[in-house]
Amino acid sequence: MKKTKIICSIGPSTQTWENFKGLVEAGMNVARINFSHATMEERKIDEDLVYRAREELGANIAILYDTKGPDLRTCTFKDDYIELVVGETIRLVEEDIEGTKEAISFNYKGIIKSLKEGMSVLVDDGFYKLVVESVDEDGNGATCRIINGGTIKSRRGVCIPGINLDVPYVSEKDREDIKYACENNGDYLAISFVNSAEDIRQVKELCKEYGRPDMPIISKVETQYAMDNLDEIVLESDYIMVARGDLGIETGVENLPLYQQMMIDTCHAYGKGVIMATQMMYSMKTNIRPTNAEVTDVANAVIAGCDAIMTSDETTIGNYPVETIETMARICENVEQVTKYNLDEFRLSGTAIHNTIARCAVDASQDLSIKAIVASTLTGRTALDIASLRPESFVIATVTDSKIARKLALKWGVYTKLVPMYSDTDDIVSDGIKAAKELLSLEKDDLVCIVGGFPQESHTNFLKIDTIK
Ligand code: PEP
Repeated sequence: MKKTKIICSIGPSTQTWENFKGLVEAGMNVARINFSHATMEERKIDEDLVYRAREELGANIAILYDTKGPDLRTCTFKDDYIELVVGETIRLVEEDIEGTKEAISFNYKGIIKSLKEGMSVLVDDGFYKLVVESVDEDGNGATCRIINGGTIKSRRGVCIPGINLDVPYVSEKDREDIKYACENNGDYLAISFVNSAEDIRQVKELCKEYGRPDMPIISKVETQYAMDNLDEIVLESDYIMVARGDLGIETGVENLPLYQQMMIDTCHAYGKGVIMATQMMYSMKTNIRPTNAEVTDVANAVIAGCDAIMTSDETTIGNYPVETIETMARICENVEQVTKYNLDEFRLSGTAIHNTIARCAVDASQDLSIKAIVASTLTGRTALDIASLRPESFVIATVTDSKIARKLALKWGVYTKLVPMYSDTDDIVSDGIKAAKELLSLEKDDLVCIVGGFPQESHTNFLKIDTIK
């Protein structure tokens, strides 16, 4: 069993039961449904696959919905594409037009007046580059030189480093999608192009309005503004996703290694989760084997202490989705065997009783080489706290609600067992040990640490260390 969790993005390559079952058996923990691409029909297909996996395979697979976010796009082009010829110029205009090779517009207004001479306009994942040569005095148009050209299709993504889109963070589409996530049993909500803690608070308000104040929020860090506001974003989020695709385009790929380490360190320091995303196994979209560099990328995410790693195109449109997850899981298990974290880097920001008990459980597990920490938890919080401190042992959470089990599916090192509500501490302890024995290979005389809350409905308030008989 691996401790690092795997998020698989679901798409055409994984929308059959055979492939989806393969992903589950290979080690997928969370299915990501991307609102940028998934139609209503596709969402239903994906959700049905998850429900079937839970039912038929008894797998604790959670659903992560991912919003589109306020992304800047080109207009629609005449004939659906235009040719950008290197060395020629093209006009960017404020008014809505049908794009031609002479002029294009964007899906948001007010962009042109913020442009400055020398700024780069990167189109379609940064493959095409324009540089601003002049901006009209009235701010309604700009002339750009084409630096990297080619054929581009309508409505491609645009990134202009240094520009803060002056638009509401939550668009009408995102509001509808957030509502959908709340009303369709989303276990996690990832939000795109977050720039500040205020953006996250707006999403949380909506989740509350749609009946899901508990929705765990994953903030995707993919802009320079988000990096500048990293501390406040981490504090307001449950998880951070290192969204390397867009972040690399906006900030320059040479900044990615430093930025991803900053995100990991900040999350560890505040007891928050961190997910490494994008191009981890990119070549497996078309090849049965990853490159050595990709293997090392996955291994480094494990060594750095990420909670989870994520696939994108490899599993949405790739030729080898199941093999990709099998390979990732094998790398995680192999590297985890020898990875020991520096526990001083992992902290919890809270000072409540459950935080203190989590720290005591992890200290005890290190001092006594405890083989499993069992958390009997109603809300999942204590198990999250313990795992955030990265003990050497697995964390087994005994929970009374399958929704809480799914809330823990993404967390490093946590595996869950559904149990009844107990009316006796002895039952909490004995069933906790039973769960640990079922899920892990424990031997006679191994030590297990159990934390829980009693009487019923109490928060975590006790810790016991017991021996396997
Ligand atoms: C990314 O940009 O790296 C990312 C994960 O976001 P998306 O897949 O939504 O583009």
